[in-house]
Amino acid sequence: MSKKDAAVQQYTSDICLITTDAPITAHTHGGRAKCMQRLVRLDLPVPDTVALSFDEVHRIAAGDAPDVSRILEHFADDQLLCVRPSSEDPDWGGPGAVLNIGMNDARMKSLSDRIGARTAAQLYVRFIQSYSTHVARLDPDIFDDLDMDASDLVAQFLSAYEDEAEEPFPQARGDQLRGVLRSMARAWEGTTARLLRQAKGAPADAGLGLVVQSLVLGVGPGECGSGVLQLVSSDTGLPQVTGRYLSQGQGRDALHSGVGAQFLEKDARGPSLEERAPEAFEQLKVHAAVMRSKLREEMQCEFALDNGQVHILDGMRIQRTARAAVRIVVSLANDKIIPREEALMRIKPRALNELLHRQVDAAAERDVVGTGVAASPGAASGRIVFSAAEAQASAARGEACVLVRRETNPEDIRGMHAASAALTERGGITSHAAVIARGLGLPCVVGASSVRFQTRKKRLVTPDGREFREGDVITVDGSNGDILAGEAPMVEAALNDEFKTLMSWADDERDIGVRANADTPDDALTALNFKAEGIGLCRTEHMFFQADRLIAIREMIFADGPEDRAAALEQILPLQRDSIAELFRTMKGLPVCVRLFDPPLHEFLPTDRAGLRDLAEALNLPLSDVTRRVEALGEYNPMLGMRGVRLGITVPEIYEMQARAIFEATLLAAKDGAPVTPEVMIPLVSAKREVELVKTKIDAVAAAVRTESGMDFDYLLGVMVETPRAALRAEDIAPHCDFFSFGTNDLTQMTYGLSRDDAGRFMSPYVNQGVFPEDPFHILDREGVGELLKLGSERGRAARPDLKLSVCGEHGGSPESIDFCRQIGLDYVSCSPFRVPVARLAAAQLAI
Ligand code: PEP
Ligand code: MG
Repeated sequence: MSKKDAAVQQYTSDICLITTDAPITAHTHGGRAKCMQRLVRLDLPVPDTVALSFDEVHRIAAGDAPDVSRILEHFADDQLLCVRPSSEDPDWGGPGAVLNIGMNDARMKSLSDRIGARTAAQLYVRFIQSYSTHVARLDPDIFDDLDMDASDLVAQFLSAYEDEAEEPFPQARGDQLRGVLRSMARAWEGTTARLLRQAKGAPADAGLGLVVQSLVLGVGPGECGSGVLQLVSSDTGLPQVTGRYLSQGQGRDALHSGVGAQFLEKDARGPSLEERAPEAFEQLKVHAAVMRSKLREEMQCEFALDNGQVHILDGMRIQRTARAAVRIVVSLANDKIIPREEALMRIKPRALNELLHRQVDAAAERDVVGTGVAASPGAASGRIVFSAAEAQASAARGEACVLVRRETNPEDIRGMHAASAALTERGGITSHAAVIARGLGLPCVVGASSVRFQTRKKRLVTPDGREFREGDVITVDGSNGDILAGEAPMVEAALNDEFKTLMSWADDERDIGVRANADTPDDALTALNFKAEGIGLCRTEHMFFQADRLIAIREMIFADGPEDRAAALEQILPLQRDSIAELFRTMKGLPVCVRLFDPPLHEFLPTDRAGLRDLAEALNLPLSDVTRRVEALGEYNPMLGMRGVRLGITVPEIYEMQARAIFEATLLAAKDGAPVTPEVMIPLVSAKREVELVKTKIDAVAAAVRTESGMDFDYLLGVMVETPRAALRAEDIAPHCDFFSFGTNDLTQMTYGLSRDDAGRFMSPYVNQGVFPEDPFHILDREGVGELLKLGSERGRAARPDLKLSVCGEHGGSPESIDFCRQIGLDYVSCSPFRVPVARLAAAQLAI
């Protein structure tokens, strides 16, 4: 195209009538203009419409006079008009539409004959009002005192306008249109509007287009009115003709008017559009179906009737909940309107959380009394309790409760099992409470430090001074981090057939495995329901928090010497073996990776005086003795202290007992028809010698179990790469291993030198000031931690090409992190069971 042709095209496209071949795109004229052109191409009855490009509107906002003659040449002289915004993405909003442009004294008179004097006057008054507020920017209450039934209503409105604006109301349609265009263009460029749309994801320089359309009056003789119609429910996505219609109404009045708006289909509540204008109703349904199949989307159609004749004013992608969104894309794909790949791409993986958990009803009022980190999605209400014991008591009474703690420790797991939701003052996305809650599918908010947790006084004090005491009901919304007063209305989880279908399509596409982190048979069942391909991390220590088991572990910790310890471990062995065997049986032969004991031992000991007393009683030891030994086990920096493989090396009997439990469980499960090759994983490794020492012991236990049972079995031994040194020295470590699993929670903690349990306190300012782009415990830090993953993978595979690689930190469930895992060639990711569907869909989208 020559420069001159390009200039002509630019000129003609800046203001152009929407025809089938007008040069209109969503990037130059906005989504609405583009959609209107599609409707024109479908030969739907769309009123004449002129589109103004982003450039043209921008020039108007900057002060150029709108070239209204080039717009008006497309409309008859007495045609009333309306102007609507057309931003690139309809979700970014825009100034409100202005209707009835062209109303003036003369037009009111001429319309009076056709639609009646009163109706014509009302249209005029409506326009004066809208022009005053949106264009002349007058105070809307200047008309408040006027008598709407007065015979000289119009005169009163005109004079109120003139008094306030100090000029007569403009009579020329061109002047009115000029004013409307200018005010809409400027409104878009105002600071508030810009900040609002940026919050919705719009770029700073997002443009606004405008469309000027012949107005279908919606009032007058015969059946006149306006409304919206769609073919499915926005809540469920199920087929259901939905919408509102207002006879003798204009624009979107039907939606805003509580009085007089009618339903579309026959309805006991009043006459419907179907009864008033059956033919128009049938036509509208046909038009909406055409829009669905040709625009390849479930659309809401905005329409007006003029003496029974249908006009389609606009089409909009229907609003939808996540559950409706899934149903809609599956149905579009089943009807061959879109391919399956596109159906998969249209759903945001994280939106699935809305389906997997109960949620606060989006339509309900929210009495938010505090906020924290959204640590585990879903919402639940219950009475406040401040201890695990109270939570259990509450569950025993059949009462829903919310466990409120400053932070949780392993002892609280029992309470979390019993509670409906958890709330903590401290902690971030990988804190103990967050990890456990996600595993349980328990709604959880952590790090709610704006609320004062006065746990001794058993009360919470919110930033605005409201108090909530033990027994008061609150709602924890783990999907967005809100704490709400009282019991909020909920929407149930919806794992319907369409969800399952979409997930199966995702599995056909993805090229990275998805396993679940599951510690108990219950978790495993959830994992299996969500079609995890195995367990990528079983934290065995979590099998010991039931009261009867905890005491056995405590006895082991307090053992006086190897013999006593052996006796205590003897007690633990059958419990551990049975739990693991049950896990294997539940997983029906799918791979299960069992991690050997990881946390520091003192986590199993009581922290308060009453607990110490109970322990002394149970162990039949003096309180002073117990207190002294608990203190002796304390460490300055337990996360970097005596834990993980360090415990395995210094107290080898623990890992030996666990290895035996795993191997005996393997034999039990095989007998029950669930043959499995267990994967035994050593945590917190940093040197190859650690692996050599542990491997020798475990091989010896395997040999012993084989001899004792007379049965053979295989097992794989692997290392959890969660210290930077293990990643750097992967080449030394890999020859002793069958697999590596990157524990990105600890690896992030150690790479940054950032406590995963305390980072919540300063993460917000850090992210807000751009020190970190995101919370690195939430979204994998590709540049630092990711570099270690990459190095560790390359060096590990250089030494052992068939080394199996995975991630089992919380990042395994985040779509952005899965992208990276896939890029560096990991075999699978493992995440909390409830995040498995999110990971499956995210992985599919990355492969498409
Ligand atoms: C990790 O550190 O990434 C991990 C999965 O282990 P844990 O969270 O139990 O420390
Ligand atoms: Mg770890």
